[in-house]
Amino acid sequence: MMPSVYCALVHYPVVDRTGEVVTTAVTNLDVHDIARSARTYGLSGYFVVTPIEAQRRIVSRIRSHFDGGKGARRVPKRGEALRLVEEVESLEAACAHVERTHSAEPTVYATTARRQPGMVSFEDARARIASNDRPVLIVLGTGHGLADSVYAVAHHVLESIQANADYNHLSVRAAAAIMFDRLFGDSEALALGK
Ligand code: SAM
Repeated sequence: MMPSVYCALVHYPVVDRTGEVVTTAVTNLDVHDIARSARTYGLSGYFVVTPIEAQRRIVSRIRSHFDGGKGARRVPKRGEALRLVEEVESLEAACAHVERTHSAEPTVYATTARRQPGMVSFEDARARIASNDRPVLIVLGTGHGLADSVYAVAHHVLESIQANADYNHLSVRAAAAIMFDRLFGDSEALALGK
C-alpha cells in the first residue's frame, strides 16, 4: 500500500538569480496546474507555502471559486483538484499538518534543476516510498530554486530531470508533473485518504 504523499510549492525561502533569499509571488497557474497533476497521480494534498497573508487569501479565493463557487459549475472537475490545495505560512507548517494527520513526520524530498551531491534517483525514491508507510512531502521551489535552508531540513534531494541537458529551464509545473509520473506513474492509486 503506497503511503500518503503530499507536495509543497515554496514561495519562501527561495533564491533569486543573485542567490539572495527572497519571497516570490503566488502564480495562479502554479496553483491550478500542480493541483491537477497532484490529483491525477493520487497525492493526498498540495501545500502552497507563503508567509504573506494576502497571498494566502488569494490561494483561498482560487480554491473556493472552483470548489462551490462560480467556477464549480463551469469546470466541475477543477474543484476536485483544487480541494487538495492548502495554503500555509511555512514549510514547517506543512510538515506539522502532515504529522498531525498521520501521527508521523513526513519524509521530505527537496528538488532542484542543479545537480547536487547525494541526490536520490527517481527509481530509488520510487522504491523507498513504495516500501515505507511514512507520509512523504515533495518540496518544489519557485524563483531560481529552493534556498539552502530547505535542503538542510530535507531527508533527500531528488535527482534533477535532464541534468545533463544543455538547456534545463523547466517550469515548476512541468517539473512537478514529470516527477510525479516517474515516482507514481502507472502504479495503483496512492492512498487518497488524508
Ligand atoms: N535553477 C532552479 C533550480 O535549480 O531549482 C530552477 C528553479 S525552477 C524555475 C523552480 C522549481 O522547479 C525548482 O525549485 C524545482 O522544484 C523545479 N524544477 C525545475 N527544473 C527542474 C529539474 N530539471 N529537475 C527537478 N526539478 C526542477
